[in-house]
This record gives sequence, C-alpha cells and structure tokens, in this order.
Amino acid sequence: MHMKLLMIEDEAQIANLVKAGLEREGYTVDWVADGLAGQKRIELYHNDYDLVILDLMLPGINGIDICKHVRAKGITVPILILTAKSYVDDKISALDGGADDYLTKPFDFKELLSRLRTLLRRPKDRLNLELRCDGIVLNPSSRKVHIDGKEMRLTLKEFGILEYLMRHPNTVVTRDDILFNVWDFHFDSFSNVVDVHINHLRRKIAKKGRKNFLETVRGVGYRINAVTEEHLLLPA
Ligand code: CA
Repeated sequence: MHMKLLMIEDEAQIANLVKAGLEREGYTVDWVADGLAGQKRIELYHNDYDLVILDLMLPGINGIDICKHVRAKGITVPILILTAKSYVDDKISALDGGADDYLTKPFDFKELLSRLRTLLRRPKDRLNLELRCDGIVLNPSSRKVHIDGKEMRLTLKEFGILEYLMRHPNTVVTRDDILFNVWDFHFDSFSNVVDVHINHLRRKIAKKGRKNFLETVRGVGYRINAVTEEHLLLPA
C-alpha cells in the first residue's frame, strides 16, 4: 500500500533527514518549510495525503494553530506533531488542537516509523462490521460515522475511541482499556490524552442532540449509554 505524507518543518536539516529516511522505507514525502504554505497545502490537498507530520514551532504560525484551523474546516487527515518541547502542557495543547499523536524531538527514527505505522493502519484490517447505537452508525471499513443519516467528521483517534466504546455499549471502559486498544504502544502513562480526545468527541456528539450518550464514570472511565444497539454484518 503506497503512502504519501506531507511534512511541514522549517528546519531543513531535520526535514531532509526525515524525508530521506522515510523514502528509504517506501513512503513518498512532500516537504513544505513554511507554516502558512503548509496550512494552505492541507486545506487544498488533504485528500492526497495519508498523514501530515507537523512541526510545532514554525515561523509566523504555530503548528497547533494550523491543526485547529484545518480541524475547524472538518479536515480529518491524521496529524502527527513533532515538538522540541516536552512539557505536558504542550502535549495537551497539541492533542486538544486536534492532533492524533505527537513525538518529542530529538526522536529515534524507529519510534517515528512505529508511530506512523500505528496511525496509518488501514481500516480494512479491521472487522467488516457496522456498529449502530441510538441512530449513530459507525462503519469501521469506510471510517465514517453517521448520526441520524448525516456524516459526523471525526479525527483518527476520536474515531478509534468511538469505535472501541461502541463495541462495548453500556459497559464501563477504563482509560487504560482505551489507551491499550486505540494506541497500541506504551504512551508513557500520559492518560490525559484519552480525556482530551473524549472531550472533543463528546462535544461533537452532544451537538447532534445526544448529550448523555458518552458518560464519564468518575474515577473509573467512560460508558456509552445506548438504548438500542444493533450490529449488522455487511457483505465482505
Ligand atoms: Ca521548527
């Protein structure tokens, strides 16, 4: 499966190294050095890319602002943030801005590859089963969610979390369950990451008139409260 990535990074040395390394692994990498040009590229050509590698500190604009901007436009392309910072606040801001994952510089190239593989895992690897709860329909193959027949755009991680919860309706699932199943690497016990994505997901679902669908069970985890649930097998 051929993968095309967009890298927005102002440091030429890092960009060239990462680009060369990824191309040796068979990825195609387009590199944009300027933040605003990168943002424009995502806006216009996000369908051409399987993933965006986005630096946080860019001249003129911050990676988080780019992230927020494109997410606000409903663009769901997976975004991996590269950051020289290692403070928890920046990680939260990155994820809160709609990024799917982050990596702190300097990073091990193997670690980057492993994160990319996780983010790029194709939905067709999953069970071909459509999940339905209370008028919410989630299709793991097409990676689409519909509420009352209308598409709801979710980021990769929001989708992963909703899928996991919908596979376990009316059951309390813990943060660790979600971390283990939606992120399949050890996330340095940074479980706030789950809360951040859950909050986004809950807001999107609440906007569609389902305020109590995704409940926080204090001190334990989360539960989807589904009055009706139905699993439909689709033709392969
Ligand atoms: Ca930079």
